[in-house]
Amino acid sequence: MPENPKLAVVGATLIDGTGRPPLTPVTVIIEADRVAGVGPAATTPVPAGSTVIDGRGRFLTPGLVDMHVHVHTPEKWHPELFLAAGVTTVLDLGGQLDDVVAYRAAVESGARPGPRILFTGPMLEEGELYPGFAGFCRRFAAARTEAEIDALADAGVDGIKLYVTVRADTARRACARAHARGLPVFMHQHATRGAEAALAGVDSVEHVNVFGQLAPAGFWLAEPAKLNPFEYGGWLWRWLGDLDPRSDAVHRLYDGLVAAGTALDPTLVLYAARPAAIGDDVGDTSMDDPERTKLLPRLPAAIGKELVGRWAERRAAARGASEAAKHRMRRAWDNILALVGGFHRAGGMVLAGTDCPNVAIVSGFSLHRELELLVRAGLSPSEAIVAATRRPAERLGKRQVFGTIAPGRAADLLLLDADPCADIRNVRRIDRVIARGVVYEPDALLAGLRAS
Ligand SMILES: [Zn+2]
Repeated sequence: MPENPKLAVVGATLIDGTGRPPLTPVTVIIEADRVAGVGPAATTPVPAGSTVIDGRGRFLTPGLVDMHVHVHTPEKWHPELFLAAGVTTVLDLGGQLDDVVAYRAAVESGARPGPRILFTGPMLEEGELYPGFAGFCRRFAAARTEAEIDALADAGVDGIKLYVTVRADTARRACARAHARGLPVFMHQHATRGAEAALAGVDSVEHVNVFGQLAPAGFWLAEPAKLNPFEYGGWLWRWLGDLDPRSDAVHRLYDGLVAAGTALDPTLVLYAARPAAIGDDVGDTSMDDPERTKLLPRLPAAIGKELVGRWAERRAAARGASEAAKHRMRRAWDNILALVGGFHRAGGMVLAGTDCPNVAIVSGFSLHRELELLVRAGLSPSEAIVAATRRPAERLGKRQVFGTIAPGRAADLLLLDADPCADIRNVRRIDRVIARGVVYEPDALLAGLRAS
C-alpha cells in the first residue's frame, strides 16, 4: 500500500473509543502516522492534496488492541493476520526477548505489515517450570526479584509478566520495582491467590485464575507445574460450576480488585474452547472453527492445517464426555460469564485479550469473538470496544499514543461496514484498516500472506 502523507476519512460515524456516544457524520484528517484533526464533516475542511476515503454509511473505531498474545514461535508469527482482523496493537505476555525484539523490528522496519508490538519478555517464575512452557518462561531466585525487574526494564520491556509459581511476597516486591521503573505488571496467578494479587499491586490479572481463591476446601491445586496445560486448565472446571457467583465471597473478591484498581483480562475465548468442543454456542465461531469458517480458505495452508488440528484435538478430548460432565461444564461456563459480568458491574476494569495462539485461537480474528463474549458477560457493545481500545492504552500508560481517535494519537483506525454498537459482531465487517497512517484492505493482506 502506498503511504499517504495526507489522508481524510469523510462522512463516517465516529466511535472514538472513549465510550462517548457516536458522532456523525465526521471527518478525520490523518497526516503521516497521526490523527491531525477530527470534527463534524460540515465544518472540518479536507486539506488540499489529501487522499479521501468515503466513509458515508460506515463506522470508524480505533484500531483494536489484543492485551494477551504470544508471538513466540516463527511458524506462528503472522503479523498480517492481526492487521487483517483490525488489531493494530498487541501485548505479548510471554516470549523470549530476542524473539519479540526481532518481531517488533520486522514490523517497524516495514519488512512485514503488522500491529504495534508491546511485550513483557519472558514470564517470570520463582518455582518449578512446566516443561512445555519453559520456552516462554524465565526462572529466578526470589532474592533477585529487583535485579530481574531492572534487567527487563533496561532491556526496554513495556510491562512485567508474573506467572503461576510467583508468591504474594515476591509479587509485591516485583510490583514495587516495576512501578518504580514505570512498568505495569500482568499476572497469571496461582500461588498468589485471588485478591492477594491486587494487594501486591498487580495491574491486570490474566484469565479467570483470580477466582481460584474461591475453590472449595480440598480442591486447591498445590503443584500446577506437574500438570500439562490441559489438566491445569481443567482444574477450574471441576468446581467453578458449583460456585454461587452472587455470594458474599465473590463480592469481597470484586471489592478487593476494584479498590486496588486491578484490571481483569479474562481471555474468555480461551475458556470457550471447552463448551465449543461439545458443540455449544459460544459466539460466532465462523472465523475460528474450521467446520464453519469463512476464513480457512483465505489462510495460508500451514495455519489452516494447525487450526483444523487444534479443533480436532478439542473435539476428540470432549468426545465421550458423560451428560453429567457436560452439565458441569455448562454450569462452569455460565459462571465464568457471570463472574466477569459481575466484576464489570461492580466497577472493575475489563480488558480484551485472547491468549492466541493457545488452543484454537486465531491471531486477530478471535478477538472479535472475545468482544462478543464480553457482551454476553454483560458489557454493552460500546463498553466492549472500550475494553479493546482506550482501556488497554490506559493500562499500558499509552493513553496519549493510541486507543482513542483524537488529534495527536496514532492513526490506527477501522472502517466498518456496519454499526458495532448495534451488534458487536459487526467488528468483523471490516472495510479498511488504517495502522499508523497506512491503509490496508483485509483481503489483500490475507492474499499476501497466502502468497508468502
Ligand atoms: Zn498467555
